[in-house]
Amino acid sequence: MLKYVSRAPVAQLDRVLASEAKGCGFKSRRAHVLFMDFIKFLGTAGARVVVARQLRASGGIWLSLDGTNLLIDPGPGSLVHCFRSRPKLDPTTLSGIVLSHKHLDHAADINVMMEAMTIGGKEKRGTVLVPQDALSGSDPVIYKYVRPYVNKVKTLKSKVKYTIGNIEIVAPVKHMHGVETYGLIFKGKKHTIAYIADTNYFPELEKKYSGDILIISVLSVKPSAFQHLSVEEIKGIIKKVKPKTTILTHFGMGLIKAKPWLVAAELSRELKTKVIAASDGLLFRLGSRRTDR
Ligand SMILES: [Zn+2]
Repeated sequence: MLKYVSRAPVAQLDRVLASEAKGCGFKSRRAHVLFMDFIKFLGTAGARVVVARQLRASGGIWLSLDGTNLLIDPGPGSLVHCFRSRPKLDPTTLSGIVLSHKHLDHAADINVMMEAMTIGGKEKRGTVLVPQDALSGSDPVIYKYVRPYVNKVKTLKSKVKYTIGNIEIVAPVKHMHGVETYGLIFKGKKHTIAYIADTNYFPELEKKYSGDILIISVLSVKPSAFQHLSVEEIKGIIKKVKPKTTILTHFGMGLIKAKPWLVAAELSRELKTKVIAASDGLLFRLGSRRTDR
């Protein structure tokens, strides 16, 4: 069962989590965070100006599915927003960190989070899955000295199936975005989450992604020259993928001015499907094992 919880009533959410944790036999909220299936938006900023001015946070996406925690695209402030979350998200509970691409707004905290996940390398754990150009070439973004902190550093390639913990990960197609970029499909036992990261529009996008939840990086209202998707361009993708819920994120200045929640409501009306706009700190629940039983 899918449940949507807005970010507003944090205290209320805490109470819900605490009571569910008790119901599940967990004493601490931290344990419950490990137990629930959810997507937490540690930021919704897109592109340079919104990130540079922190008009929206830029910490990436925390996915908790079937007892496995993954961090996706840890941009600037990822660690800070893990600890600012209520309940806190403990980096040492991560099984892996995945990058769609190495641009700063997606990767600035990758080294920070590799250290945090392993307590500065004291506790070796986790898998880091990143495009090749994040590791080698003229401008790699992952420091060589942090690489041995984690169990595995793997190169992300399209159409290869990866497994981290209980989550299967596939990058169905290479994107058009300046640096090596992939969208991702995360498959759990009950839920499949597709994440279309930064890209220019190309028709294959409509065929390559499937999932009951679709997260799309959408920068602008109208098509632009910035190698990102616009609201206009994602309509065909949503129609084809037919997810139960589409979540918009990675907003540029123009889209923020247009008020993403109004844009999402208009898309819902037009496409007759559920489209929501992520907000900083949004917790989107995929249903706990207890409630799913
Ligand atoms: Zn980018």
